[in-house]
Amino acid sequence: MKDDKPCDHAGCHCRVPVSSDYCSESCRMAAESQNVGSACECGHAACQQRP
Ligand SMILES: [Zn+2]
Ligand SMILES: [Zn+2]
Repeated sequence: MKDDKPCDHAGCHCRVPVSSDYCSESCRMAAESQNVGSACECGHAACQQRP
């Protein structure tokens, strides 16, 4: 299927429908505030990478 794309938040590993920009409000706010240096806080499994 080609109905998804990466989340537009640079730090996020989720995939989202092509009709959406971000996987969550968390990513939207992070991207709009240019807070891309920190870990993604969307809470999805793909982003819960613990050190
Ligand atoms: Zn994420
Ligand atoms: Zn995301």
